[in-house]
Amino acid sequence: MSTTFTRHADRPFTADPVEEADVIIVGSGFAGLGLAMQLERDQNQSYLVLERADDVGGTWRDNTYPGVYCDVPSHLYSYSFRPNPDWSMVRSPGHEIYEYLQTAAREEGVLPQVRFGTTVLDAAWDEVSATWLVTTNKGTFRGRFFVPAMGLLSDSKVPEIPGMETFGGELFHSAAWDHDLPLTGKRVAIIGTGATAIQLVPELAEVAAELVVFQRSAAHVLPRRNRAYTPAERRMFARVPESRQGLRSAMFWFTESTFGERRRLPQSVAQVKAAVDSFREAEVPDQALRAALTPDYEIGCKRLLYSDDYYATFGRDHVSLETSALARIEGNTVIGASGNAYEVDVIVMATGFAAARPPFANIIRGREGVLLADHWATGMEAYQTITVSSFPNMFLLSAPSAATGHTSAVYTIEAQVQNVMEALDWVRANDCAVLEVRADAEAEFVDGVDRRGQGTVWTEGGCNSWYLDPGSGKLTLIWPDLAYRFADEISHFTPAAYVATPHRPRTDR
Ligand code: NAP
Repeated sequence: MSTTFTRHADRPFTADPVEEADVIIVGSGFAGLGLAMQLERDQNQSYLVLERADDVGGTWRDNTYPGVYCDVPSHLYSYSFRPNPDWSMVRSPGHEIYEYLQTAAREEGVLPQVRFGTTVLDAAWDEVSATWLVTTNKGTFRGRFFVPAMGLLSDSKVPEIPGMETFGGELFHSAAWDHDLPLTGKRVAIIGTGATAIQLVPELAEVAAELVVFQRSAAHVLPRRNRAYTPAERRMFARVPESRQGLRSAMFWFTESTFGERRRLPQSVAQVKAAVDSFREAEVPDQALRAALTPDYEIGCKRLLYSDDYYATFGRDHVSLETSALARIEGNTVIGASGNAYEVDVIVMATGFAAARPPFANIIRGREGVLLADHWATGMEAYQTITVSSFPNMFLLSAPSAATGHTSAVYTIEAQVQNVMEALDWVRANDCAVLEVRADAEAEFVDGVDRRGQGTVWTEGGCNSWYLDPGSGKLTLIWPDLAYRFADEISHFTPAAYVATPHRPRTDR
């Protein structure tokens, strides 16, 4: 019996019947769409993309807070196979990246294969049919291969603050911005000082009557130095492909050159420290305020942030810095661990995402029903950042060890997608039904990544970041090496690391 399903791009989706495809992808951000586009170009496998929202775009669809932009240069933070000569700025606003993904999905012809409003409730490997059964609010889907590409910035993390239920004003997470809620003249508290908060704080200060920033840890900040591309530059990017290719390459190698500080090379650290310190000194003349904004951990341990106006905002009369965590809420009073209290109308939680323990691990079950979250009891891990033993025919995108702290996430995603495409080709060529990574290959790969993480700023830099597993403290999110090595080591499928079973459903378990 062949389990190769036929393409059904022309078959309209009806609510209940099971739909089948060779590859079922979950999520339509950069990762899910990146794979879908390659499958669409390839035309060798049928595929479906399940998306819980009503549009593609992932984190760039969801994050619409004022001031949202990407601090990675856009010519690098985009697919290599879909260059965009029209980026308006060196580092583009979030809506432009969202539009880029919408256009890419439309022009590459993947939209007919996306099932919007489809939330995955459970995904289980079925031994007998050697397929994945993906249960959703719209019925069950079946796929030979299953690709969770849900991203790590898709589920908001809101801390449970005692007394939260007593708050009489508006409280929301930065990724769920309510654009109908007027903030002009309001007293606002923002919780957090990460990459999101640093973009939001100057914007909120423009409209709020009073703004208090709850800083549990100070951030290292460099100037953003963004600028618009001129019409002449954009014409050149459109007419002379080599010009934008050269720019992309220069951007890539520049970001790679910043890896030295993550590796804690003394000369690199000294250089970036001088830049960070002198920027803070120039921007924050008040000594006490400057001391309060000075981090107590090494640069790069948490994400290095970029802003031209974050520091200056604290010099404004109506802006206060609270140097402790939000500890309690009593009615409209927000109280820091320091005991300082502030009356506010609105609380913005810029408190990040459930990244190191992604919720999707609680709904994916492999052989013998083993839960991915249990397999990952001490933290996320995967062979070549993609495959997990006991979870046959599953390829993860953008999950363990696939983030970089210093360059473009799209670069690492493309390397993973290439690996998956090679794996699918190999499976076809070898008439194989079940592909499962060997546990020893997985363990050896993970050990190698762990070893490389030792001595880096992420493990030794004296901070507690979201790159670390909250239970074991292991560095599970970051690829602790240069990005070009990620491409070298991850882009290619390595059959020797796998057990491949011929094209016949298993009945022995
Ligand atoms: P984040 O980096 O996880 O920051 C969350 C912040 O909330 C931290 O400052 C944390 O403090 C703070 N926090 C949590 N609970 C708190 C409490 N009870 N009281 C006070 N503070 C509290 O989240 P994010 O800023 O949303 O950024 C997440 C990731 O999104 C980034 O690292 C980046 O990868 C991505 N991002 C990228 C861009 C870009 O331009 N490329 C822009 C935005 C976001 P601690 O530091 O003490 O834990």
